[in-house]
Amino acid sequence: MCNNFNKKFIDEASKALRDQNEDASDDAYGYMKQAAAIAIKGVLQNEGGPFGCVIIKGGEIIGRGNNKVTSSNDPTAHAEIMAIREACKTLNSFQLEDCIIYTSCEPCPMCLGAIYWARPKKVYYGCSKTDAAKIGFDDKFIYQELNMELSKRKIPFEQLNREEAMKAFKAWEEKEDKIEY
Ligand SMILES: [Zn+2]
Repeated sequence: MCNNFNKKFIDEASKALRDQNEDASDDAYGYMKQAAAIAIKGVLQNEGGPFGCVIIKGGEIIGRGNNKVTSSNDPTAHAEIMAIREACKTLNSFQLEDCIIYTSCEPCPMCLGAIYWARPKKVYYGCSKTDAAKIGFDDKFIYQELNMELSKRKIPFEQLNREEAMKAFKAWEEKEDKIEY
């Protein structure tokens, strides 16, 4: 009797907690664990850095990714990018509507940009960028570069032949059946 009461109380309390913050459920912890497991697997298989990511929609994993920079000679093969590509393929869409991203580490500026373009509902991250910097993955300089005058960046940026490049913009502006995003 007493046990039943306790169980009922705990069930109701955890339900209330989930209603209040439905994403931070046991499932959420499980998804982050999967992101971390993918990261470890990537390290053991010499695929790249220790980063993993899963993307969830409606309780299902629709995209997975781990860092494959060194094994695929692709500097953009970060876990989040790989997972976003797979998830978008699964959904046959260029938007991650109502999706939740679980990434084993706080995204770098490139992935942050990709995440904003993909427009998911929420992002959970495991390790922080400070944790990443401690093991040699420091993306602080990219954040610093963002605020730098273009000509003073470590990689110089210089504007050239705007007139020619603007023709593509004009074509877009005039196109009537374009798919906006
Ligand atoms: Zn990244």
